[in-house]
Amino acid sequence: MTMTPVVEVKNLKTYFNTPEGLGRAVDNVSFSIERGRTLALVGESGCGKSVTALSIIQLIPRPQGFIAGGEVLLNGRDIIPLGEREKRKIRGNKISMIFQEPMTSLNPVLTIGSQITEAIKLHQGKSSSEARAKAVDMLEKVRLPEPGRMFHEYPHRLSGGMRQRVMIAIALSCRPDLLIADEPTTALDVTIQAEILNLIKELQREISTAVLLITHNLAVVYRNAENVGVMYGGKIVEMAGVKTLFRNPMHPYTLKLLRCVPGMEKRGRMLDTIPGTVPPPTEFPEGCRFSGRCHREMEGCGTIEPALSEKENGHAAACHLYDPEFMNKPLSRPLLALESARPAPVNVPHEKRTTILEVQDLKYYYPVKKGVFKKTSGYLKAVDGISLTIKKGSTLALVGESGCGKTTAGKAMIQLLKPTGGTVVFDGKEVTGMTPRGIKPYRSLMQIIFQDPYSSLNPRLMVGEIIEEGLKSLRPEMDGKARREKLSRILDMVGLTPDMMRRYPHEFSGGQRQRIGIARVLVVDPRFIVCDEATSALDVSVQAQILNLLKSIQRDFGLSFLFITHDLSRVEYIADEVAVMYGGKIVERGTVEEIFSSPKDPYTVKLLSAVPRIETV
Ligand code: SF4
Repeated sequence: MTMTPVVEVKNLKTYFNTPEGLGRAVDNVSFSIERGRTLALVGESGCGKSVTALSIIQLIPRPQGFIAGGEVLLNGRDIIPLGEREKRKIRGNKISMIFQEPMTSLNPVLTIGSQITEAIKLHQGKSSSEARAKAVDMLEKVRLPEPGRMFHEYPHRLSGGMRQRVMIAIALSCRPDLLIADEPTTALDVTIQAEILNLIKELQREISTAVLLITHNLAVVYRNAENVGVMYGGKIVEMAGVKTLFRNPMHPYTLKLLRCVPGMEKRGRMLDTIPGTVPPPTEFPEGCRFSGRCHREMEGCGTIEPALSEKENGHAAACHLYDPEFMNKPLSRPLLALESARPAPVNVPHEKRTTILEVQDLKYYYPVKKGVFKKTSGYLKAVDGISLTIKKGSTLALVGESGCGKTTAGKAMIQLLKPTGGTVVFDGKEVTGMTPRGIKPYRSLMQIIFQDPYSSLNPRLMVGEIIEEGLKSLRPEMDGKARREKLSRILDMVGLTPDMMRRYPHEFSGGQRQRIGIARVLVVDPRFIVCDEATSALDVSVQAQILNLLKSIQRDFGLSFLFITHDLSRVEYIADEVAVMYGGKIVERGTVEEIFSSPKDPYTVKLLSAVPRIETV
């Protein structure tokens, strides 16, 4: 049975005037979504997914951005030519949007209740009391506890997951025809992510909303969408039903994206990666926009643009590989060997490795201050007596939800925070309780890589200076020449070029910044590194490059890692052992195989069952 699409995007073009020239962020994109169905848009950052969404809801930043062509039909009517007043009526009423960071779209000075009632009154013409009753009903529907009390709360008093529920309540309160969810769960813990996505599904079933889901998490797409569009360079390069696309990806870009995803079956191998980066919309190459990064590139790919066309049963791809005219064209370069074909690293068996870090009954309590004189009224037990060991050349993953104490534990282990109690023995020496002078030699041996490399890099210093800074303070005996030699060796090791030393952090992509962060740590010759959500903010393709880099430096230098994360798919791939943390304590420990195949603690079971999985690749 064919259903009428709620939204039909036809040949949409959204361009931006920039100092570098015209940016074709969305360039001839077409798709439709039927009532009650979900279409996911996937692709790396900068491929045009979010701009497509903003074009549909008519929120393109002006004056730089403009719709250069095409139509957005909502229930058969093109909304692009409408006046601003009519567009405003459609936004939040017929089309709603949920953003990644709800705090940016919630008004901090208004209560939750007034923000929902405002939306209901504005779009549905209800009286104040009717709108209020409906708002409380919506808060209940999104399963916020005590909706009556929640109505009077302010956004900053709620957790990230609760704020996202409020956003959903606002977005769905007017029963929109189309809901756009742009990375709705990226910043959330896996258990909350599962709840939020289920909630959207339930409400979608109840009111038959069409959903446009934008995410870089392919497992979330697999679990939640019926159809997928893969975007690259402002275009849709592949479109198919979700199961078909994951089982039989046709476009080389889709294939590469899927191969970048870490998982248990890829343990011991390097992940496949996509060379290079997405070109900016002002610099798309001629012909196929994926040329230059594609492992199947043929002669002619760089000059003739492939059109998106249906290959079989609604499965469309834009690639010359399926064009009979191109079938006998030679490859423009030797077929690149897949990264994953590299041999597994040779290592000492895990059980024979010696210990580098031994943590006994580690505690870290934050004082809770109250009153005018800020007197300590009690303690928050962020880390409450954890014990673990990490072996040389091994990775222990510390997993658990936000606020369970993972980061505090990591910092206390390397003595960035002074523990309240317990001991940490590093390579046979107790480091807890050492004087600042005593701990100094250990500062370089125990290092940390943060989640957001940008905020941890000084924007006023050039990259060379940033990396050299640590070397100067921790290795004062090294002269300038030796430092510079070391610097260029390290840059090479992390895949950066020497000319980059004279550039500033803002000139780099997220993945390159994380490489700079890693170089800064490696330059001081650490033996143990805490990786605190080190790949969480990265695209799946860049994440694969960084995970490969961490694996290869571990193999080459015998480094040990504490890998702090809430994403369990990375844990399966990179870790040897896992410790699950909850409420400041470790509730379960074991090898990756033990934890993932037979978790014992109910919390571990809950955590694992919330992880979305792709079952066809
Ligand atoms: Fe690769 Fe050519 Fe297909 Fe583009 S058209 S994806 S370069 S094979």
